[in-house]
Amino acid sequence: MFTKQKPGRVNADLSDTGRGALEALVHGWGVVPVHCVVPVEEDADGEVTTWCCSCKRGEDCPTPGGHPLFENWEQKIIETADEIGELWTEYPVLNVGVRTGVRHGVALQIEGVWEDPLSVISLREQIGFVPRTPKAISCSDAETYFFLYPHGYSCQEMPSISLGPDVTLRQDHDYVILPPSVAENFMVEDEEWVWEVGLDEPLAELPEALVGLGGLPHEV
Ligand SMILES: [Zn+2]
Repeated sequence: MFTKQKPGRVNADLSDTGRGALEALVHGWGVVPVHCVVPVEEDADGEVTTWCCSCKRGEDCPTPGGHPLFENWEQKIIETADEIGELWTEYPVLNVGVRTGVRHGVALQIEGVWEDPLSVISLREQIGFVPRTPKAISCSDAETYFFLYPHGYSCQEMPSISLGPDVTLRQDHDYVILPPSVAENFMVEDEEWVWEVGLDEPLAELPEALVGLGGLPHEV
């Protein structure tokens, strides 16, 4: 579990994404280190023109800078400030994610805002009022809302479930990317994930229409 950070030590030299990881940890989330994008080619002026994922697939990676650093990531959740300090000191540009599920919370991810606005409109009608709760915006304008894990479901397993084109409720055994991760065009400011409502906002209850979706009994 979370080990209280030593004042003034771990924080001092951490990169932006390292601080993002620490903030998530302080708010009770298990941290998932995520691959980042790295420069491949520069033009004559030294401007980077091509980026690729830091994973071994490099330019062939389908989700550059958007998947966990470790293949067995669920066994390697970071739960202490010291581990964050060590990892992000060694690899300061790593992106950051958190595990979703029973011990932490769930995340509603809406990526289809542009591709399929009708599905998002119908989802919003289905959900009704979305209470104020932490909300992140990705570099491609996808929205991620964070909610409490629903009461009474801790004896069930709730895998993530697709609610429509590019709309996913991330639940047990899943993860989401957090601000201030960055995607391609590393140095362009709005390529960063940003918080619209930060983690200091208490998590709201999951809207009723979404509670229990995809639930299966937990294996004993
Ligand atoms: Zn990759």
